[in-house]
Amino acid sequence: MKLTHPEHAPPADAARSRAIKPVICYPVETLPRPDLAALRAARDGWTKTAEVIVPAREAKYFEVPAGCFFRITSTLGPQVGDLNLWAAEDLNERFFSGKTRALHGTHLSTGDQLWSSIPYLRPMATITEDTLDWYGIDEHGGSVHDVIGTRCDPYTHHMLSGGDNYHHCCHSNLTRALTEATGLMKHACEFHVHDVLNVFMCTGFTRDTGQYFMKASPVRPGDYLEFFAEIDLGGALSACPGGDCSSEHSSDAAACYPLLVEVFTPKAPPAGRVSPARNGYDRTHGCDLD
Ligand SMILES: [Zn+2]
Repeated sequence: MKLTHPEHAPPADAARSRAIKPVICYPVETLPRPDLAALRAARDGWTKTAEVIVPAREAKYFEVPAGCFFRITSTLGPQVGDLNLWAAEDLNERFFSGKTRALHGTHLSTGDQLWSSIPYLRPMATITEDTLDWYGIDEHGGSVHDVIGTRCDPYTHHMLSGGDNYHHCCHSNLTRALTEATGLMKHACEFHVHDVLNVFMCTGFTRDTGQYFMKASPVRPGDYLEFFAEIDLGGALSACPGGDCSSEHSSDAAACYPLLVEVFTPKAPPAGRVSPARNGYDRTHGCDLD
């Protein structure tokens, strides 16, 4: 929290420091940008090839081949989803929420890409449609589909609640889903669960103290977020126990609803599509030692 200690009086040039114009850390204009029009054109005549229903307070694993699309859709009521992505053949390559945030901002929408972890650091998926893009940024600084939260988890809940063991936090849901899908031991799978894209969640940071906040999601049945798979993907989606995340999570108190994941295969690959290569940095790190 940003609280000022009384002994830390501002220096004489404080006003000048505060007035300095910010510089964007990572201007995305220098990135190779996805051809959104070509991607969206490839949806014409596509075929639905898979469908997964994610029950309330549970998670499900799904796979999306490179060159296909997937949609996450709200079904029976307002519901937030916590999304993990991995390279289908290598769980070590996973969605990198922090770098995605640094590149595209705190909340994602159409045209933004989901980047993978170091040392791979390449686009895993591109967002091709977002029916909540009308929301923009509200007067509290809130918006939807954030990459600033982590995922609700039983450890933080245990710490804050005084010892209650709750097993349907998104972290546990994602761990169970990955365990069931891969047959790996659950404690191994837990280490592969990572910071999420908070699909449909409405969040921000308070202006006065800089704290992470949530408010009721504007998502309604039929709303969806659609992605193009840049590489072969494994995904897991948790229908968060917080429901629309208007009041609390990490309990069974909130109304929760299923989410729908659909996979679509286009008739032909998007024009000019090139599968992204792993990052080109040589990984020597200026060091001769192995
Ligand atoms: Zn959650």
